[in-house]
Amino acid sequence: MGTKGRAIIGLDVNELLKLLNKAFADEWLAYYQYWVGAKVAKGPMKDAIIAELVQHATEELGHATLVSNRIIQLGGTPLTTPKDWFDWTNCGYDPPNEPFVRILLEQNIKAEQCAIGVYDQLMKLTEGKDPITYNMALTIMEQEVEHEEDLQALLEDLDLMISPPR
Ligand code: FE
Ligand code: FE
Ligand code: MG
Repeated sequence: MGTKGRAIIGLDVNELLKLLNKAFADEWLAYYQYWVGAKVAKGPMKDAIIAELVQHATEELGHATLVSNRIIQLGGTPLTTPKDWFDWTNCGYDPPNEPFVRILLEQNIKAEQCAIGVYDQLMKLTEGKDPITYNMALTIMEQEVEHEEDLQALLEDLDLMISPPR
């Protein structure tokens, strides 16, 4: 932990660490939801959809890395066991038990919308008080917004394919 780096933060650092660990739990669950969804996906446009799910899985893991690095920098400990992910998560986990691509897209869009809300809250909380966490949240938020749009664009194409305008 950097003591001066922690001292300049105009917030309750323990409270902030709790929120960061909650976001950390979300990122791991998002990673796995994408990763296993890409394995089981079935249906039209499967190749394009799987490619996007795989890419997003990698990016969610990158978010987990960013958040855990900040947790450690602030003197905290990232959740040490996957069991904790379910107790700490904001956004939960939707298992891809129904592997039709349309349902997978909807499940992951819901998760992205939740993630956008989580980072929006973190940004509002840290603005002007903890520029480093603020910047991290902004970086991740930019990618979550992109993820939502990628998935909604695929859903739109899929629906056009299933019932083309006439
Ligand atoms: Fe993420
Ligand atoms: Fe995402
Ligand atoms: Mg993408």
